[in-house]
Amino acid sequence: MAVLPAGTQRRCAARRFCFEAVLERRIEPGLRNLPSVDAVLKTNTAAMLVERFGRNAAVSAIRTALKDARIALKSGILSAHTTEHLAQQALAKLSEEDRSSLRTLFNLTGTVLHTNLGRALLAEEAITAATEAMRNAVALEFDLTSGKRGERDDHVRSILCDLTGAEDATVVNNNAAAVLLALNTLAGGRDAIVSRGELIEIGGAFRMPDIMMRAGARLVEVGTTNRTHASDYERALKPETGVILKVHTSNYCIMGFTAEVSAGDLAAIAADANVPLMHDLGSGTLLDLTRFGLEKEPTVRDAVAHAGLVTFSGDKLLGGPQAGFIVGKRSLIQAINRNPMKRALRVDKIRLAAIEATLKLYRNPERLAERLPTLKLLARTQADIRDQVERILARTTDCVGAAFAVEICDCQSQIGSGALPLATLPSAGIRIHVKHGGGQALEKLAAAMRALDRPIVGRIEDNSLILDFRCLTDEAGFLSALSLLDRSALA
Ligand SMILES: *Cc1c(COP(=O)(O)O)cnc(C)c1O
Repeated sequence: MAVLPAGTQRRCAARRFCFEAVLERRIEPGLRNLPSVDAVLKTNTAAMLVERFGRNAAVSAIRTALKDARIALKSGILSAHTTEHLAQQALAKLSEEDRSSLRTLFNLTGTVLHTNLGRALLAEEAITAATEAMRNAVALEFDLTSGKRGERDDHVRSILCDLTGAEDATVVNNNAAAVLLALNTLAGGRDAIVSRGELIEIGGAFRMPDIMMRAGARLVEVGTTNRTHASDYERALKPETGVILKVHTSNYCIMGFTAEVSAGDLAAIAADANVPLMHDLGSGTLLDLTRFGLEKEPTVRDAVAHAGLVTFSGDKLLGGPQAGFIVGKRSLIQAINRNPMKRALRVDKIRLAAIEATLKLYRNPERLAERLPTLKLLARTQADIRDQVERILARTTDCVGAAFAVEICDCQSQIGSGALPLATLPSAGIRIHVKHGGGQALEKLAAAMRALDRPIVGRIEDNSLILDFRCLTDEAGFLSALSLLDRSALA
């Protein structure tokens, strides 16, 4: 601290005292004039608050507004605090608290099946079925023919078998649960043989070795990261082997000097040893997606032809709700159904209804791309997306303001959720970069977009904010959300 001459210090102190005295004279009446909670409660706004949120919440929010006013006054912010003003503040606070944190948003990240944004969007047929199941009693575990108890899986077993060629099928909470349950059933307390090249981690702390351990299986790693041979599996087989596990390395690729044992060859090895082969497909798909212009991803039917059990997700490429499917040999599925863990991992009626409706859409592959939103988004052409961007560009430029340069760009969308990790889909979008403003300007813009009532989420890349429009279906909704962008927050 700089030392000032004594006289200056005294003069400053005197001036400060004087200023504080003036402030004091103005704060006192401000504090005295603050209305009471009861007075605020008499406003129409407060009456509406009581109606909407209940008296306790309304009173508590008004008290907070009064407390904030007192703090503001004491720190010298001398604005008027009328009853109406305080009631409005209480309303703002309660409305903010009332807003769902599970907000619907515009996914312009370019990742279609974004795990953090909820993966697949459901088909209207699935939404209707789920809503009906929510509103009504349903024949969940009830056989309408005999009037006796039925099984949850009855609703999806036959269609899953039709679509995959499997003998039997069951459904659980998600694919992680499917893997856990299948491994526990086949290899609890026994060996599970897996290639070192397939010990994957997918996001969210799902690591194959950990899941195997939690399933009670003894992990027996064979081969190396890049090469595993049939003889590696054969040497590891023992009387206490419970399962040979094959994992689709869904989110990465090993390239170069590599070797893996095909599902067909593994099936022969497993059959010779009389050990079941289980294949975790991860995403899995019920149809050959090359007909929609996507790369080849192994179908469940292909896997079922070799493995005794196949597991895959409901909300990845399949385009349904979160679920995990286990399909395969009847005796193995029956063993799974007898496992007490099954009960802890089962799905509820809402999802079961959505799953059944989604699977039924696959009966008519010709119309699938128009009815299944995930597939529709994946199959959108770059030309179609670019047309949309051209319609939206001018309004977007206006909304973000003169501090930013906005231009059309070509970009690459990703499928996401580990499906087809190297495949990208040519797409189009808007690239926004800072024309003038500080280094934080772009982050502030991204934050302001996230703060919207219906947030817009893009991705930041090379000092630009990229909005990939592949997943934008509600163009008007996007524009009206964007028009509410708070440009004062960008300064
Ligand atoms: C995604 C994935 C899982 C987990 O599936 P969830 O449905 O997310 O639980 C398991 N194995 C593989 C290979 C995967 O790709």
